Amino acid sequence: MTTLADPVPGGRPGDVERATALSGELAARGVHGVVLAYVDTAGITRVKTVPTARLASAAAWGVGMSPVFDTFLAQDAVVTTDVLGSPDGDLRLYPDLARLVVLAAQPGWAWAPVDRITQEGERHPGCTRTFLRRVVADAADRHGLTFKAAVEIEWMFARSDAPDDAFVPATTGPAYGAVRQVELGACTAELLAACAAQGIDVEQVHPEYAPGQFEISVGAADPVAAADLSVLVRQTIRAVALRHGLRVSFAPAVSGRGVGNGGHVHLSAWRDGAGLYAGGEGRYGMTAEAESFTAGLLAHLPALTAVTAPSPASYLRLRPSQWAGVFAAWGRETRETALRVVTGTAGLGGRAANLEIKPVDLAANPYLALGALITAGLDGLASGAVLPGETTGDPALAPGAARDARRLPVSLAQAVDAFRADEVLRAALGPVLADAVTAVRRGEIDAVDGLDDDRVAAAYRWRY
Ligand code: GLU
Ligand code: MG
Repeated sequence: MTTLADPVPGGRPGDVERATALSGELAARGVHGVVLAYVDTAGITRVKTVPTARLASAAAWGVGMSPVFDTFLAQDAVVTTDVLGSPDGDLRLYPDLARLVVLAAQPGWAWAPVDRITQEGERHPGCTRTFLRRVVADAADRHGLTFKAAVEIEWMFARSDAPDDAFVPATTGPAYGAVRQVELGACTAELLAACAAQGIDVEQVHPEYAPGQFEISVGAADPVAAADLSVLVRQTIRAVALRHGLRVSFAPAVSGRGVGNGGHVHLSAWRDGAGLYAGGEGRYGMTAEAESFTAGLLAHLPALTAVTAPSPASYLRLRPSQWAGVFAAWGRETRETALRVVTGTAGLGGRAANLEIKPVDLAANPYLALGALITAGLDGLASGAVLPGETTGDPALAPGAARDARRLPVSLAQAVDAFRADEVLRAALGPVLADAVTAVRRGEIDAVDGLDDDRVAAAYRWRY
């Protein structure tokens, strides 16, 4: 379970007692320190760590960290907004003890995601986990809805001895091929063991399309837990790979051409235990609300890409006919539209029905991405938006005008323009976070000005 309550100075009710007990248990299991993790606006996971014995103090008073990271770029340069990016001020990081896990592949360490509040005890408007918790709480209050989500994770296994930070795949063999499974079998078995030890419900791990590429998928959870999991799973993959002398890249693209790494989101909405994506009168069993929710997402997709595909390297991945979903269209089980309606297998009774959102990568801050996606869907649901007709086949092959009208932004600059014009998303994020998104994206654009595609890929290859 996820803790939905905001942190408070002195600790959320019961947290200090819980942390005191936990630190004893952790010490008995040989855990010396706890990693406190959050994701910044640029999509980089930033951490502080505390000795296990300080966990109760962290639960009571938080751990200090500058708000400047809200306007850090992926390469660690800093940009500014009206209120962010200054060297002044401090925030308090509060662990969500309900999500604390002992890290199987990093002996001696535990891990917990954090929310950030101000020294005065107020919500920090730049805290993306707080933003997602608020979106989820509002959806429950205003619409009686809950959500389940999962983030698919794709990555490249690379050799760590390649010169000049080049990308050299750590395995040979065909896409989805048994050769790769054999060559990296010891590493991926350890990954499965680590996930199991950490209580992660892995559905599949398999060799993917691009050289060196693999994918892992995990079971759906509440959106905050799903975002936490996407961070934790990546920490685990990296740690396991390191033990096998390998390097990993979650970057949207490792080179200027070819298939990239996606972070497809699976999302479903529920009311009173019933999924809106099954058992309805609409297309493929969607309820009227599910159709409108999907229509809302479709309408906001150009602006959403500034959040879900936030790196200049994201646009090396977002190309037609690479299964990255670059057209604002939907279809059942189609891999080229941005939105894919998944009905699940006969016999599952609709429990597995959900919507897959493809133009999302792992440079995205998962809290921000899930919060923005749910906001867009709810906008459609609340206004009874009408879902247009389904698309089948590859939209890239449609006649010119029909194809171009639906093409999602082809650059980060286009995505930022769409985001700035989207008042629904900006209002939901609030001015501080919305301005941080704009400033950070513009900073990334400036950082790669004049670079060709291969250099853009190289600039971000090992950052995510
Ligand atoms: N690698 C593709 C992407 O960048 C996704 C492949 C798949 O459908 O799993 O989104
Ligand atoms: Mg995949």
